[in-house]
Amino acid sequence: MLTPEELEADALFPWLRDLSLKPVPPLEIPEPQRSGESEADCSSCDKADDAYIWTNDAWRLWPMTGFPLRGCVMLESRVHGDSFVDLPPPLLADLGPTIARVERAVLSIGEVGRVHVARWGDGGGHFHLWFLPRPLGAMHMRGSGLVPWVEALDPPDNAVLSAAHEAIAAAMSQPS
Ligand SMILES: [Zn+2]
Repeated sequence: MLTPEELEADALFPWLRDLSLKPVPPLEIPEPQRSGESEADCSSCDKADDAYIWTNDAWRLWPMTGFPLRGCVMLESRVHGDSFVDLPPPLLADLGPTIARVERAVLSIGEVGRVHVARWGDGGGHFHLWFLPRPLGAMHMRGSGLVPWVEALDPPDNAVLSAAHEAIAAAMSQPS
């Protein structure tokens, strides 16, 4: 376990302040409901295709704003399902090539060191993968250090984010 001093000294940790460990909360069982637990109560299923920057018969790509990363996108399944175990086999077989296609499109915006692909699922019950482009040279954001820095920094101007998403949409429209 890192001490507060070691945590503050770690380049992956964005804060400088006196820190002490919170008491570990008790377990919550059963766990609280997430949004979109069912198809009938799912904001992703309710969205029209024109809210996304790219779609096909199986997948839709959502432009993430409010994050200090150019080109942050979320890949959602068109069908409602929670995790990998809920997706039909043909969709799972298509997922790998689709991830590679999205990664290529995100890399195409330039000045990206690496595209982190993340699956958490604790926030919503509709299958989604995060594509988080680490800015080129931002070694303080490498690995899991990207998340606390993303939560600590303000996003760039909307025009910057929109331009990156437009470039990703253009790359996705190319034949794979
Ligand atoms: Zn859904």
